[in-house]
Amino acid sequence: MPYKICTYCGKASYSAAESPSVKWLCPYCDKDISHVEGLTSLPQKEDSEGHEQ
Ligand SMILES: [Zn+2]
Repeated sequence: MPYKICTYCGKASYSAAESPSVKWLCPYCDKDISHVEGLTSLPQKEDSEGHEQ
């Protein structure tokens, strides 16, 4: 399951929806992080953008 690191509070947020059109709000600070690049693995690995599996 892909997740994102909130750029506002720095916490990891896991997605319940798979559609990219759904707004992704951080559950911790309630900010919209839809624009943040999604991660599918540990943050230490840098993948090219726009890749979703
Ligand atoms: Zn946040």
